[in-house]
Amino acid sequence: MSLTDAQQAEIDALRGQSAATRRATVPALEELLYQAMPVLDHGFVRVIDYMGDDAAVVQAARVSYGRGTRRVSEDAGLIRYLMRHRHTTPFEMCEIKYHVKLPIFVARQWIRHRTANVNEYSARYSILDREFYIPAPEHLAAQSHANRQGRGEVLEGEEAGEVLDLLRNDAVRTYAHYAQMLNEGVDGTPVDPGRKGLARELARMNLTLNTYTQWYWKTDLHNLLHFLSLRADPHAQYEIRAYAEPMLRSLEAWVPATYAAFRDYRLGAVTFSAAMLAILKRMLAGEAVEQKGSGLSKREWDEMMGALERG
Ligand SMILES: Cc1cc2nc3c(=O)[nH]c(=O)nc-3n(C[C@H](O)[C@H](O)[C@H](O)COP(=O)(O)OP(=O)(O)OC[C@H]3O[C@@H](n4cnc5c(N)ncnc54)[C@H](O)[C@@H]3O)c2cc1C
Repeated sequence: MSLTDAQQAEIDALRGQSAATRRATVPALEELLYQAMPVLDHGFVRVIDYMGDDAAVVQAARVSYGRGTRRVSEDAGLIRYLMRHRHTTPFEMCEIKYHVKLPIFVARQWIRHRTANVNEYSARYSILDREFYIPAPEHLAAQSHANRQGRGEVLEGEEAGEVLDLLRNDAVRTYAHYAQMLNEGVDGTPVDPGRKGLARELARMNLTLNTYTQWYWKTDLHNLLHFLSLRADPHAQYEIRAYAEPMLRSLEAWVPATYAAFRDYRLGAVTFSAAMLAILKRMLAGEAVEQKGSGLSKREWDEMMGALERG
């Protein structure tokens, strides 16, 4: 993770402050607030701000005048009920804001989640940092043969070394060309006074997709759960899952009852179609059902048996 001393000092200064408020705060999330949680080689996720807690979900569901909370177990039960029956609007009453530093190709996947407010670092206004994501050797994998959107075996030996060299050299070379086209020193003065230098908004097009960008990303709890259900899932690309992990930790610190219900009803759950459910009932009744004649495609059958952990 690449934070300069000045950036770390700003974070430390913020963490040294506190303000009195009548609003609900969550001590476990306060503990995490502003701190950069490292992701990949240069990235991070930081919680910048939040509104609400588990009680705010309960309060909204009951449309109460006060905190609206009862015993912790009753509140947790209500949250589980809301999650189970997809009564989602009470979760929209809580909000969270993150600061994320991420490679551009991950940002392209992330930005598809439209139900958030985003402000990205302007590469028209500022010069991007010279930082590129280079996968760790264990994440340098071949194309999967079974899944067109997935990875297969890890690359090894000479091939792995060659790929890493290509990734690193291309990123370094295009960044050097970016800097050359900009013709700007750190203080903004031209490196070569005889050249005008290309505008930042144009020079950036030459950069590789593993260059890091940054944004502030704010969303409500309902949409955060939707994001995490897709991006913490094993089907999501490793690099975006790597960001979902610290976000899950912040979720657990922020709204532990919602997190527990989410783990149970979303992350740890599977959906069976009506046809699958009918097959499951036949299997439970002792019938030996096979894919052939089951009405399920081979892929559906394999997914169902995978979920049931049957060969
Ligand atoms: C494993 C995986 C593989 C993917 N592969 C591809 C791919 O190959 N190509 C590709 O283009 N994308 C791909 N995506 C992106 C995917 O199609 C979604 O765009 C992305 O996950 C955002 O989901 P969302 O639209 O539900 O989220 P959000 O944009 O946050 O929307 C949340 C919900 O709000 C509602 N909503 C938001 N906007 C609208 C709207 N305009 N109209 C109607 N309802 C709306 C929908 O109910 C939606 O589910 C992939 C995603 C995953 C997780």
